[in-house]
Amino acid sequence: MCIQLLISPPATGKTSDTINRLCATLEEKPFAQVWVAVPDRWQANAYRRMIAETGITIGAHIGTFGDIYQEILDLRRTPYPIASGTIAYQLIRETVRELSVKGRIPHLDPIRDTPGFLNILQDRFAELKRALVLPEEFLAHTRHGNPTLIELVYLFESYQKRLQTLEWADPEGLSWLAVEALENDPLLLTDWEFLIVDGFDSFTHAQVRTLQLIAPRTENTLITLPGAPGIARQPHQRFRIAEKILTGKLSLEIQHPDHKPFLPDALSHLERNLFDPDPPDYLPPTAVGFDFPNISLVEASSPAEEAREALRWLKSLIVRNHLAPQESAIFTPDTAIYKDYIHEAASEFGIPVTTTWGEKLSNTPAITALINLLELPIQDYPQRLTLDTIRSPFFDLSSSGLSPQDSHALEQVVRDRRVIGGSKQWLSALEYLSGLPDESETVEGKLKFPDDIQPFKIPGVQNARRLHEALNDFFKLLTPPASQSIEEWVQFVEELLNKFEFYLHCDQYICQQLSRNLNDLSISASLTGEKSMEYRGFISILFGALDNAFVHVIPAADEESVFIGNYFDARGLRFKAVAILGLAEGLFPSTERADPFIDESLRSKLGLEPYIGRQQDGLFYQAVTRADDYLMLTRPYIAENGEPWEPSHFWIAVENLFPGSVLRIKSEAARSLQNAASRGEALFWAIRQGRTPKHDPDLIDRARRIIHAQKILQARTYGIPKGPYEGDVSDLSETLSQDFGEQHTWSASRLESFSKCAFMHYASNLLRFEEIKPPESGFDPAQRGSMYHAILEETFRSVEDPTDPVQLIATSVNVAQEIFRDAPEEYGFRPSTLWQAEQDEMISKLEKTIIELVELSQGWSPYKFEQRFGKTPATVLIVDTGIGRLKISGFIDRIDRKGEELRIIDYKTGSNNFGVKDLLEGYVLQLPIYALAAQEALNLGRATHGFYWRIIAAEPSSLKLEKLKYENETGPQAAYKIARRNIEQIVKHVRAGKFPPQPAKGSCPTYCVAAPFCWRFYPARF
Ligand code: SF4
Repeated sequence: MCIQLLISPPATGKTSDTINRLCATLEEKPFAQVWVAVPDRWQANAYRRMIAETGITIGAHIGTFGDIYQEILDLRRTPYPIASGTIAYQLIRETVRELSVKGRIPHLDPIRDTPGFLNILQDRFAELKRALVLPEEFLAHTRHGNPTLIELVYLFESYQKRLQTLEWADPEGLSWLAVEALENDPLLLTDWEFLIVDGFDSFTHAQVRTLQLIAPRTENTLITLPGAPGIARQPHQRFRIAEKILTGKLSLEIQHPDHKPFLPDALSHLERNLFDPDPPDYLPPTAVGFDFPNISLVEASSPAEEAREALRWLKSLIVRNHLAPQESAIFTPDTAIYKDYIHEAASEFGIPVTTTWGEKLSNTPAITALINLLELPIQDYPQRLTLDTIRSPFFDLSSSGLSPQDSHALEQVVRDRRVIGGSKQWLSALEYLSGLPDESETVEGKLKFPDDIQPFKIPGVQNARRLHEALNDFFKLLTPPASQSIEEWVQFVEELLNKFEFYLHCDQYICQQLSRNLNDLSISASLTGEKSMEYRGFISILFGALDNAFVHVIPAADEESVFIGNYFDARGLRFKAVAILGLAEGLFPSTERADPFIDESLRSKLGLEPYIGRQQDGLFYQAVTRADDYLMLTRPYIAENGEPWEPSHFWIAVENLFPGSVLRIKSEAARSLQNAASRGEALFWAIRQGRTPKHDPDLIDRARRIIHAQKILQARTYGIPKGPYEGDVSDLSETLSQDFGEQHTWSASRLESFSKCAFMHYASNLLRFEEIKPPESGFDPAQRGSMYHAILEETFRSVEDPTDPVQLIATSVNVAQEIFRDAPEEYGFRPSTLWQAEQDEMISKLEKTIIELVELSQGWSPYKFEQRFGKTPATVLIVDTGIGRLKISGFIDRIDRKGEELRIIDYKTGSNNFGVKDLLEGYVLQLPIYALAAQEALNLGRATHGFYWRIIAAEPSSLKLEKLKYENETGPQAAYKIARRNIEQIVKHVRAGKFPPQPAKGSCPTYCVAAPFCWRFYPARF
């Protein structure tokens, strides 16, 4: 028995030594039991690859300590089934539920259902097991501790008892069982010839105890550790602790081979002097004759740019220096920050990557579709979710008679029949369409389509009947029973998935993961003896399990891809080129926070890894010493809020070793095209430098589009809108002058819409844009205004004495009820649950408005309602302006009469109280136009009075025609003069093609059709 501990600095060939000795052993004894333990699967892969590179085919077992534990239990024939992560999670959940019911965890009870609580428990239990802490020992340390901690012990103890009673083990519990087996059976593993432990810089208690039991029965044991004798630098602290622990537990022969690092000078300088308070100067490469400096320090503006810089650098090494992708790696401090940026840049640059982070199973597209499907009956078939499920590529719903193409017809049903959600709404909408007399399918609305475009159609009668039957069948299939056991729920889901051929449409690996999770749920239910539950309860358990499952794709040893991981993954691996990202304050080293459950002193007593003082400098040292040839370090220098982002002290430590070597990349700086990593990037850089491609048709076309986009962006940076991308269509002025010439009849309301915002007017009246919104429950402000208008008009029109408020109020209630009855169909909305209350409120507002309007109308008699002008040539309003005579048409809400005098009333339901300023600035136009029309186009009398009636506020506007004064005019004449001037301006702009996006009052109307795409949209603040 010989146990050797090989300690030497990184890059001195420790792993190669182990491989040489392994090969030598197997050459001598081909059938010997040789085991290699490495920290994780990635390193196992790398180790296998290194062996393969020697050209030797050998039968050594290469794996993790977990594989050794499993081997021990297999040899002992211990029939302990291993609980998967899903099963362990369910057992913990059941343990929490049981102790909660018994009232044993009153302090933890309030957070038992919070997201992540069960994961925290699962993590802590795993940690305790890795440290070989038994529940009794944990309890002994916490007996007089805080009550929350004691409850944590109860949970740990109960969970462990539950596992033991079931005679199951969880993955972390394997170490306990293996250690116990070794302790009880001294003959176990006595046939091992050689054990190699490589790539570790620290060990858990379970690993140390296992080594303590295995090494003495193995012929040769070789353990490697990074470090060097007599070095007291901080980054070595972590290794010294590991060395101390091993030497305390094992009888070791320590070796410090005198191998020189095989690193280039710059990297060797970094390794030897990192964190040295007084490092020697580094001689610049030119002074010592290197071709390249091997180390790059790059400051990029953001994490996204760091990712691009790192991948561009690696691509250049792959292309120019013939580096194999698998010989390079990127390490980041926080995958959440860098993950998407790395994937985006790698995909753009065409670099294959392998990441150590798994994707949550629940985030994969197939499982997201499945979650949506199972949610449907819970959410009662909301329109969007239902349509998305029907068109999902992961299901074949033909067994229900539905195809993805049906989603188009159903989308039209949603709009036409205002389906918001609910199986009843869907079915009654299709029932309605099935009962229509017209057999033909119709295109929704007034939209006109060119001949070569096939618009989606509202289903005709036959199609509606078929869809009704199909949806009905689909809903029935998805309708869950009231309550059943988890096993039965799993079967229910499996049957659905088979029926909808989910497994045929989804990636095999994802299918396996899903099946495993469903199976694990069944097993855990049978283990916990869980009784029947409702569908919602099961779905919440299933979604929780899918959220906790990760998809890890470990590539084959020979797969060519760049390795991407976090700093923890760097340990033990070696690459020719390594990029290290995120050396900024708060990123790396990261801010440390104490464990809220087990405090630092208890963690230390129990032998758990500390949360504070995690020796992140040791991790950093490990990461920077992974590169054999090239190393790049990057940091972001601008924070998300635009403030400077300070470098971390790790960055400063490296910068101090290589003064003057930092390269700051400014995003606006010109870049050399030969360093572009993708065609898109080369093109982008070229255009910024004013260069355009000449020969490649694809690049020429892309350049044209980029230049086009560039012009639009430039236009947007002007404070004042101008140019063709900002509503200036003066190129069309000739056509516009013809179309809107003397023969054109202007609508009063459209003229007013121009005054609100010229571009809004252009989008809705000239381009005829309509915003197609998914139907929502309830009516919108315009629909409410229409109902108020209709009720007031009909009430005043139908009473015998329109000056009698009692008659008016009584009539208005009846009129309102009739209008309300037909309103959803008439105005096109689906009543919300508040519909009755909304009706009551509107009736009450009408009552108040009628009383106030009658009060203000002493001496006036209602005369005309909804009076139209301009429909026939005889009733067109002709307005003389400086640019000629203009024809105007419109509707006047109400005209009152007193002798020959007329009073014009225009109803408004908005909150605006229009004043003289609004008239002067052209914000309102209708009132003077209506007054002029009543007088001159309709010849009804002399308009002397007029105001906007604010229905909800039950009062007139501040603007009153009879009170106006302007220049030398008073009353309506003053209003006419102002209106003529403003109308003239509007018409001039329209004919000249000037439609700048500029809302009149600084904020945009909520109903603007251009708001979804207008970049100058500025919503009103409340
Ligand atoms: S969003 Fe505002 S600026 Fe743009 S068109 Fe509409 S109202 Fe005008």
